[in-house]
This record gives sequence, structure tokens and C-alpha cells, in this order.
Amino acid sequence: MAHDFDLITLGAGSGGVAASRRAALHGAKVAIVEGARVGGTCVLRGCVPKKLLMYAAQLGDGLREARGYGWNVPEAPFEMGRWAAAKAAETTRLEGVYRQLLAGSGVTLIEGWGELAGANRVRVGNRNLSAKHILIATGSAPVRDSLPGIEHCATSDDLLDLPALPARVAVIGSGFIAVEFASMLARLGVPVALYYRAALPLRGFDDMLRKAAAAALQAARVELHPGVLPQRIERLADGLRLVLADDRASDYPWVLNATGRRPNTAGLGLALDDQGAVPVDEQMRTALPGVYAIGDVTNRKNLTPVAIAEGRALADTLFGPTPRTVDFSRVASAVFMLPPLASVGPTEDEALAAGHRLKVFETDFRPMKQAFIGGVERTAMKLLVDADSDRVLAVHMAGADAPEIVQSLAVALTAGATKADFDRTIAVHPTAAEEFVLMREVSRTLPRTALPAAAVPVS
Ligand code: NDP
Repeated sequence: MAHDFDLITLGAGSGGVAASRRAALHGAKVAIVEGARVGGTCVLRGCVPKKLLMYAAQLGDGLREARGYGWNVPEAPFEMGRWAAAKAAETTRLEGVYRQLLAGSGVTLIEGWGELAGANRVRVGNRNLSAKHILIATGSAPVRDSLPGIEHCATSDDLLDLPALPARVAVIGSGFIAVEFASMLARLGVPVALYYRAALPLRGFDDMLRKAAAAALQAARVELHPGVLPQRIERLADGLRLVLADDRASDYPWVLNATGRRPNTAGLGLALDDQGAVPVDEQMRTALPGVYAIGDVTNRKNLTPVAIAEGRALADTLFGPTPRTVDFSRVASAVFMLPPLASVGPTEDEALAAGHRLKVFETDFRPMKQAFIGGVERTAMKLLVDADSDRVLAVHMAGADAPEIVQSLAVALTAGATKADFDRTIAVHPTAAEEFVLMREVSRTLPRTALPAAAVPVS
């Protein structure tokens, strides 16, 4: 049967756009359906504007640090409204770039909310369309029911559009968004209190990084409340009240809900898993033949570059010469707090649980730029090496430029570099990154722990 399109993609975010353009490049007739602005969370209200706010916070730090380097810099207030206006102009420009990229690739943009109307059918308003393949790339949105009254709180979307910074802020949660925004707001001069249920922020990261994150937040005067969550949140005339255990209460003019995100699945009619995500196999197939899903809506690794990689792999599989899947084993990630942290490979606990005998190399120092001005900011680095094969399993770093450094080292790990390869690499001096090729002393050797039945060593 002839269809209107070879591929219809629901959602013009990073993953959907990448998949659609790659499919069109292979000669497929492609439509992409988007109900809001083109570009998705990353470009419009996530990674990109967040990083632009991080640059603003970093420039403030730079102004203060400049005095130690001989510059006579007066106090300079930050004006959120000016930043927000410049950010709006930049995201509009980027949306235009995305639209041009789609048009230039020959992808038809259909504006409106799409619904899955069957295996090969999509409805957009009163239009019925058919396609041989349908891709769900609808992303995710902030959770609004994690705690009683959390719906009264703002989300990171709201923060990025504020005309002025709040006088004080409480942040609930300690994941990527909570830590990044707590750190940036504090650096921009806002008193911040962070409430979270774990002992350390950033569950899932190596303990060294979690401790470094807590220390960096404290150094930025963020008030940490580990193991403390509001029992409920009440709306006040001029803010919000966090009602804590024993009916203690703290009032804030502004509270950020950073308790996670949930897949956007309205109008799909697909069976969901217990996290509300669309289940897929490794070829990104849903339970419905001809219907695929990528990115946050599948709740696997909720990172933009993963969604893009999944989308391109799917397009290559459906329309290109060679079917392929995505290797999730060495996905690097970064938390853009100040200073930032980044990681590739397993945490120490994960590597042990996977049956490795480990050599751990660690260093912690005050970088040259900070030492010169009497700053307290530190850099921490860790290499996890498989003691049997000498292969470097993981690189963890907290400190200035960590995301840039870890991105480069991720190539070495993907290529299977050993510690001996790191050791025979000549350093670039003076840099922080050189420490990764200069660590000679083993900090700890950890014996293989009893292998749990299902554990498979990380290769
Ligand atoms: P995360 O999943 O990273 O963190 C959610 C936080 O909310 C955790 O601290 C979690 O606590 C807490 N939480 C969850 N449910 C509850 C609850 N019922 N009560 C109290 N606390 C709760 O989500 P984020 O919203 O921070 O980020 C969403 C996704 O976006 C992430 O998965 C990440 O992949 C992506 N992202 C990536 C960024 C980057 O690459 N730099 C930046 C921002 C977002 P606990 O840890 O105890 O479970």
C-alpha cells in the first residue's frame, strides 16, 4: 500500500530532527510533526539556555577573580532581564537554524500536535497521514506530582524566562537540574537552599564527584539539607511554604521543582512501563510494528547526544545500507555546575559490582589559576583501571574545564586505551588535564568482589 510518507516523526527536538534529516539524506520522504517551537527541550529550555546562564555566572566569577590578577574592576550587578532578552533572541535564532536545516534536507514540517492513530497512521488536527514507519521522539517534561503541593513550584523552564532573579530560592531535588541551577543561582548572588532525600547530591555519579559537588555547593554558600524533604508545599500570598518534618516550616519567595522529568506520551496510546516511558528494544522498536521511539520518551539515557545517536542509527537502519544500534556502555556526561564535573565509564562501585579488580588513581589539587588569587576552588580527578588488563575503565573529574577534558578522554576509552597508553602520553604543560597522564602512584588497589550472578564485567 502506498503511504503519504516513508517516515513521520513526532517531535522536532534534537533526536527527532537528527533522525528525520538522516532519513531524508538516505532518500526517504519524511515529515516531522511539532506542536510547539522547533528545537525541543535542549535548544529552547534546556542545555543551550542553561549553558548561557552558566556563562553569565562564570563571568561574574571572572570579574571577581580579575581583581586578584591586577584588574581594577568595580562591583557590577547582574541583570537577569537583559540576559533573558538576549537568551530569547538566541533561541529564536537557533529555532530558525533548525527550521532551515529541516527545509534544506527536504523534510516537511507539519505544525500541530500529532497523535498516533495506529501502526502506520498519524493524526494532526483533522489531517490523517500515513507512513511506512513512525518515530516517536516526543521528549519529556518536568514531573509535577512528586510531592504534595509541588505543582505550586516553578520549574527550570520558568527560571530561564524570569525578568529578575528571586531574592531567595529553595531547590528541591539533587539531580542534574537541581545542582546546576543551585550552583548558578548562588554564583549570581542569590541565597539558595537545597533540599534532597539522599546523603549526597547527584545519585548515579562516582562518590568522589558527589562529594566534590557537595563541597563546591557549600563553598558557593548554598545551604545544603541532605535527607530533608518537605512533607508538603503550601502557597502563600508572596511565595511558598515548605512544611518540613515536625511541622517546621521555611518560607521562600521562589521554589524550584527539580525532582525529575517524565516522558511525554499523551496521544500515543502505547502501553507504557512503570516509569511511564515507551518501552523499546535495542533497535528502538516499540510493541507496535513500524513504530519506533528514541530519546527521553523511552527514559533510557536521557541525554541529547544519546537521542541524536539513536535517531541517526535508526534512520541508517531503516533507510541506509547498514543496520546498526547504539553502544550505551561509554556515554560521557557532564554537570554544568561551577566548577563543572564530568564522567565517562562506570563509578567505582559499578566497576567492582561488574567483577573488576581495580587500580584507582586519584589526585586532588588547587589549580594554578585559583592558587594565584588565594581561591578555594579545587580540582579532583580519578582514573579506574582494570588491574588485570590495564585497560582504563573510567575517567571522573570535578574542576574547571572537566566536560571539555573528559570529552577528549572519552575517545581514548572508546578506543580501548590502557594505563600504559596514558603513561606514555607526553603532557601539555601547564594544564590541569596533564595530571591525567602524570598519575603514577596507585591510590588504592581493590580486590575483585564476589560476582553477583547477573553481573557482566564492563569491557
Ligand atoms: P534527575 O533524574 O537527574 O534528578 C531528579 C532528582 O529528583 C533526584 O535528586 C531525585 O532524588 C529527586 N526526586 C525524584 N523523585 C522525588 C520525589 N518523589 N521526592 C523527592 N525527590 C525526588 O532529573 P533532573 O530533573 O535533574 O534532570 C532530568 C534529566 O535531564 C536527567 O535525567 C538528565 O539526564 C537530563 N539533564 C542533563 C543535563 C546535562 O547533561 N548536563 C542537565 C539537565 C538535565 P534521588 O536522587 O534521591 O532519586
